[in-house]
Amino acid sequence: MFDLATNAGGLAVIGLDSEGFVRFWSDSAHRMFGWAAAEMLGKPLAFALDSGLQTSIPTQCGEQIVVDIRVLNWNEAPGQAPGSLYVLRDVTLQRKEQAAARAARRFRELLEAAPDAILEIDREGQIVLANAIAGQMFGYSRTELVGLSVDHLLPEATRGRHKQHRDHYDAHPSTRPMGSGLKLEAVRRDGRPFPVEISLSPVDSEDGQRVIAILRDISDRRASEEKLLKIRDAFARELALKNDELQKRNREIEKADRLKSEFLASMSHELRTPLHTIIGFSELLGEQLQGALNDKQKRFVDHILRDSLHLLDLINDILDLSKIESGRLELLRETFDAGGPIEEVLASMRPRAALKSIELTYGPGERIQLFADRVRFKEILLNLLSNALKFTPDGGGVHVEAVVEDSGSCRFTVSDTGIGIPREEHEAIFDKFYQAGSTTRGIREGTGLGLAITRHLVEEHGGRVWVESEPGKGSHFSFTMPANESVLVARGADSQGESENWPAS
Ligand code: ADP
Repeated sequence: MFDLATNAGGLAVIGLDSEGFVRFWSDSAHRMFGWAAAEMLGKPLAFALDSGLQTSIPTQCGEQIVVDIRVLNWNEAPGQAPGSLYVLRDVTLQRKEQAAARAARRFRELLEAAPDAILEIDREGQIVLANAIAGQMFGYSRTELVGLSVDHLLPEATRGRHKQHRDHYDAHPSTRPMGSGLKLEAVRRDGRPFPVEISLSPVDSEDGQRVIAILRDISDRRASEEKLLKIRDAFARELALKNDELQKRNREIEKADRLKSEFLASMSHELRTPLHTIIGFSELLGEQLQGALNDKQKRFVDHILRDSLHLLDLINDILDLSKIESGRLELLRETFDAGGPIEEVLASMRPRAALKSIELTYGPGERIQLFADRVRFKEILLNLLSNALKFTPDGGGVHVEAVVEDSGSCRFTVSDTGIGIPREEHEAIFDKFYQAGSTTRGIREGTGLGLAITRHLVEEHGGRVWVESEPGKGSHFSFTMPANESVLVARGADSQGESENWPAS
């Protein structure tokens, strides 16, 4: 029995006494675990042995082996307490093979479950392996596919060149998409072509180098791309059409605008000529040099004169605005001292201020040299000042200030102690024909064009105009004229006016 145990090929035999000490250690146990009988006899085992189980046991060199264990009762010598004889079979290799087989099965399952067709192709272009999807995709059974030349899956036109492509790939094998940038097509058994995406990978097999081709049917994607393209094209066409229409409309509007401006300009001119006649003759009548008028006649003539002057204002404003809006206003820029025109405007306004007992003051008036249109600069000031006088009750004050700001631009401000403007109207008053609601109730002698013109003139000069005001607290209208450092003569001290009496707002 011992001889048999000693020589049993793949089986190691280990005998333990009732205490668990090694009493028998076969040569095959030596081979299996690495320890010789001499090392083991009389010693306890370093590892546990259970019957029937496949256990992983470390060998002398640290490797793990898997063994299948059988146990027999064993009496080393008669009369002794019974020990155990363990018969161990090394199943490590078997286990590894099982694992490999399982992995191979899993891998096959994976190939089958893949959404893409997978083909293995040999050097001659023959299909040697195909997954189920490949069959479905091309309309063949799997067995029909295997052994078929891959050429059958290509459109006729490309078959001729395919061998060259294959040879080229064999010479430069790498994992890559096929025909990148090209629209690839494959053909079903029934001859119907469909778009595909193909990637290639070289594989080494026992039978030489092969190619794995993974094919994806992209019919759906291609269809939605084409749909998208169509939508985009339709959209682009519609957009182009709309653009054309818009451009045409714009040209029409521009033309209409130009015609309007031209019409206004010529009409204004035509209106002003007879108006000057009316004004001139009513002035003459009013002077009564050609004979006395009775009170009623005098009043009538005054009405004619006042309304004619108002009409002239309106016409002048409209003419100005139409010139500005049609871009025909040309600024005649020159370098001048701002103090001169300010004083001139103030002088022309003093009689009106005096009529309402409004105190008209100026200061600090820094010496500022402007490079601007002198006439237009005066017009801006005149507009702001006449508004200030118009909307300030008797006995109030109107003040003009000219300063050079830290930024280098010149700021001119016309302040009044008048009725003020609600915040929500601060922007709108600069629009054409806009008159602030609260103010127009009492005072209707305007055109609503003054501030619109003013803003155009200021902006034409590169400046800006704005108002700070509250109802009942007066208004501050300011505008800037950008001044070049070189045209700035002096800053600070030499103000030309007095401002001590000016009421704080
Ligand atoms: P208008 O000919 O009516 O004065 P403007 O364009 O010059 O036209 O002004 C528009 C409106 O802005 C005026 O009708 C008035 O309601 C308001 N406004 C302008 N300046 C002042 C001011 N200094 N105080 C109060 N309201 C003002």
